Amino acid sequence: MPGLYVHIPFCQKHCPYCHFATTATGNESEHQSFLRAIKAEAEFAKNQYGLETFDTVYIGGGTPSALRVDETKELFKILRSSFSWPADAEVTMEINPGEVDAQKAQVYKELGVNRISLGAQTFHDHHLERLGRIHRRKAIVEVFRMLREYQFKSINMDLMIRLPDETLVELNSDLEKLCGCSPEHISVYDLAVDQGTAFERLHKAGKLNLPSEETHLEMEAMVQNILCQNGYNDYALSCFSKPEHESKHNLNYWYNGEYLGLGPSAYSYIKGVRFQRALDYVSYMTKIRKKDFDVIHEDVIDDVEKEAETFLLRLRLKNGAPLSRFKKYAPHVQSRIDELVEMELMEWYYPYVRMTMKGRAVAEEIFARLVLSSKEARTQNSCGIIP
Ligand code: SF4
Repeated sequence: MPGLYVHIPFCQKHCPYCHFATTATGNESEHQSFLRAIKAEAEFAKNQYGLETFDTVYIGGGTPSALRVDETKELFKILRSSFSWPADAEVTMEINPGEVDAQKAQVYKELGVNRISLGAQTFHDHHLERLGRIHRRKAIVEVFRMLREYQFKSINMDLMIRLPDETLVELNSDLEKLCGCSPEHISVYDLAVDQGTAFERLHKAGKLNLPSEETHLEMEAMVQNILCQNGYNDYALSCFSKPEHESKHNLNYWYNGEYLGLGPSAYSYIKGVRFQRALDYVSYMTKIRKKDFDVIHEDVIDDVEKEAETFLLRLRLKNGAPLSRFKKYAPHVQSRIDELVEMELMEWYYPYVRMTMKGRAVAEEIFARLVLSSKEARTQNSCGIIP
């Protein structure tokens, strides 16, 4: 069954490294207008695409926890009036440690949220401040404890590495604290210096001292070793989970399953077509107010492209993909894969071919070698955070 993604574009403050479609506002009337827009889009999507039942629901952003309690209830009412999901569906809510209290946690639980994704990023206050985050270490620890009391089935914590001036000693301490919390799932991201962000301007001005490539590789090895020693399975690139706690929503992306995305910047992939309705909050609201549901990008994926996309997405999984079953794609890349195997960046585990540990450290380069067209490149770039 497909996944449902809803992009909530609000954040209390825009972080200087962030390129997501967000708007830094807590204005109540804007939240109400946005919910009306989501309602209109959901009703349109239900009639247009015929998708009504979902296996996973993911409320992401932005920061969904920026919505007030009544607004969150209203959001779920809207979604349930157009769509349904079974009682055992995975329902994830992304939250910012700086803005969740017991009342919100209680409401999430009542609404059927069973998986929380907590944007911890780091336990070092000076790094959190540099990243422009509104929370501090104390809030992470307190919110995590509070969430445990509400017995959510699964909690993910995000850890960001390769921060400006970050040392291996600091990362080691972050990993110790993370393992001390013992969430069921951990997502580890590199800080990316994206185009158009304040961090990009600082970087260009030589004012962002990122760890060297050598230190970065040591950081990745440290993450891998410490998390695996603590009982986490590195089931996919950047993703570590305890048994039975893999993210079903992300697995659907990596198996190239269908999904419906609602909200600004969200992508959908339905019946072989990948599309996006609006790039950002302002254009989304303008379009939906005018009842303009036209898409701004649409990729019709043919059979070879579909195989290529599916193969590349599955390479993100630890077990890789069975190349011989990709009959239309395999002839295009067989020699390139042979070269990557020769370089010890990939290995056979018949009938699967997968990235080695050495290969995982340069995964983006491997994807670039195996891409057939810009469409698969786009899929890879957006994977895991397909908004
Ligand atoms: S990093 Fe997260 S909290 Fe910060 S602006 Fe982006 S979406 Fe909002």
